[in-house]
Amino acid sequence: MSGVVQSGRLAALIGSPVRHSLSPAIHRAAFAAAGVDWSYVAFDVAPGRAAEALAAMRVLGIAGLSVTMPHKADVAAAVDRLEPAARALGSVNTVSWDGDRLVGSSTDGDGFLAALAEAGVEVTGARVAVIGAGGAARSVIDALARAGAPDITVLNRTAERAARAAALTPAASVGIASDVERADIVVNATSVGMGVVVGGAGPEDLPCDPALVHAGQVVVDLVYHPLETVWLRAARRRGATGMDGLGMLVHQAALQQQRWLGVAPDTRAMRAAAEAHLAADPH
Ligand code: NAP
Repeated sequence: MSGVVQSGRLAALIGSPVRHSLSPAIHRAAFAAAGVDWSYVAFDVAPGRAAEALAAMRVLGIAGLSVTMPHKADVAAAVDRLEPAARALGSVNTVSWDGDRLVGSSTDGDGFLAALAEAGVEVTGARVAVIGAGGAARSVIDALARAGAPDITVLNRTAERAARAAALTPAASVGIASDVERADIVVNATSVGMGVVVGGAGPEDLPCDPALVHAGQVVVDLVYHPLETVWLRAARRRGATGMDGLGMLVHQAALQQQRWLGVAPDTRAMRAAAEAHLAADPH
């Protein structure tokens, strides 16, 4: 264990629901791999009570928080300071300490970039089509723009929401289906396909027509349950390089651990724990 890491601390997830979250398995695996004797628990915190959870963090001396739905915006309003991505998005998924001040970060976007980098995918200069305009899509769009993707098109069922997500950066605009065809990287950031097994799927389980994707493209599905979605399978069959959503999930958690402990965790151990958890609890 690193000499700078304090022993016996607690980190936690706040959200609702949290019962099926992979975060405890992922974070505990990282602590174990590093020989760090920290605990990680998931607290189901009712909507509207995020500020109280932060007060508890201060009183109890909790070392770090992961934040998930429905608290990301409320936590952004309640911390002492926001890192740039969290400020741009108005959304926090990580709380850490800077002295006695609570700092809010959003590690989803950088986690997405880290997953791409790990797979050797170049983002700078790439044309990217993002399908979806919710919280995950907004993190990805913001991160892609910061990483130098000059042409990001946003496609979403609700057009007004696509326009709001595209307004995050001058590099983004609202797209049409043909933008998927001409993209280097295509990202499904909708929840379409979540929980759908390949055999029982219909056209409503696809975020876009698979005929639009082809060899030479990188197709990323942020959905990680199941690991191979219907859409990812179709994209791979058409010759595209497919990436599942677990890479982003693991790397956003790794960036949380770096903020809490000051050291980079073992992402391979984290991914293995997530895969084992998904296999054992396929909710
Ligand atoms: P969200 O804010 O609720 O956004 C949901 C998105 O999905 C919106 O764009 C919504 O379109 C679209 N959508 C939902 N149902 C649809 C349907 N039937 N047809 C077409 N579009 C539909 O959720 P989120 O937080 O962005 O999460 C989106 C997905 O990403 C989830 O599956 C989540 O598990 C996953 N995710 C993964 C990671 C990771 O680390 N891999 C991180 C965060 C999220 P409208 O705007 O039209 O409603």
